[in-house]
Amino acid sequence: MQIVFDGHNDLLLNLWLHYADAPADAFFNGIARGDLDFPRMRQGGFIGGLFAIFVPPLSYMEKMAPARMAQAQDGLTIMWQQLAILQQIEAESAGRARICRSAAEIAQCRAAGALAMVAHIEGADALDGEGEALAAFYAAGVRSIGPFWNLPNRFGEGVTGSFPASPDSGAGLTPQGEALIAQANARRMLIDVSHMNEKAFWDTARLSDAPLVATHSNAHALCAQPRNLTDEQLRAIRASDGVVGVNFGNAFLRPDGKRDADTPLTVIVKHLDHLIAIMGEDHVAFGSDFDGISTPEALGDVSGLPRLFAALEQAGYTHDLLEKLATGNWQRVLKQIWGE
Ligand SMILES: [Zn+2]
Repeated sequence: MQIVFDGHNDLLLNLWLHYADAPADAFFNGIARGDLDFPRMRQGGFIGGLFAIFVPPLSYMEKMAPARMAQAQDGLTIMWQQLAILQQIEAESAGRARICRSAAEIAQCRAAGALAMVAHIEGADALDGEGEALAAFYAAGVRSIGPFWNLPNRFGEGVTGSFPASPDSGAGLTPQGEALIAQANARRMLIDVSHMNEKAFWDTARLSDAPLVATHSNAHALCAQPRNLTDEQLRAIRASDGVVGVNFGNAFLRPDGKRDADTPLTVIVKHLDHLIAIMGEDHVAFGSDFDGISTPEALGDVSGLPRLFAALEQAGYTHDLLEKLATGNWQRVLKQIWGE
């Protein structure tokens, strides 16, 4: 079975919203809701990835988990609670899952057959502008940050707009946003451009000294969601020696931008083909967005990954190329950004 390291998932949000009483138990025993839990990861060959710490908008919480609304506190507390869930998973895993802070730790997990979990901040809305909270999260093991989700914050504006639209949806980085890039660079943290609007993307491309990484985005040329990347952006990511992780969300895949789950796996293949044509084999990977999107029915949850690899083999993808997409390219870029 092909093993997979993945650029983005929202497991922690699912556990925080719905399984807060005993999140690690739920994770290891199996979860009825959503795409991810430990038994299904094992079935699908999922060996690790970036796990998002994400504070949902209140309107989303109201819809998804009204019970959670009563306990909803400030964003910073919610972020620490989600990181605590990841720590609890590690603590109760009996060696089956570890929080990784370096490429070497990911390699150790792989050798030991343990799940490699990288803590990632999706949306810095709750962080202060002086870098104090960022320093605290770094000290606690977070190694990756995307400054935005879909809304504006003190650091700039996330990409917004409904299908079809350009990613050029607002102003770029604020001075505090520029400072955040410098603070993340100084710590050699991964900076995720996936939710950046176009101006913020180009600001980051100009300022950051690290490879550009879009953890969970697709090709705008094939699906004109503003969250997807234009060919010009893809070329800039390639030039920086970065990586794009392909998102499995129907709305980010389909040419019509709909959430329709009747989406054949060949649509994922087409995005991979396009990204590889523009960026080459060494800059494309997976960024499922499991638990954050609706997937094609033909894929289903994480246990369906072998079906995707069957479709890729069918399309003529070689074993070497699949290795790069599934683990090699993430391994390479994380080592480059973080150092050993
Ligand atoms: Zn996202």
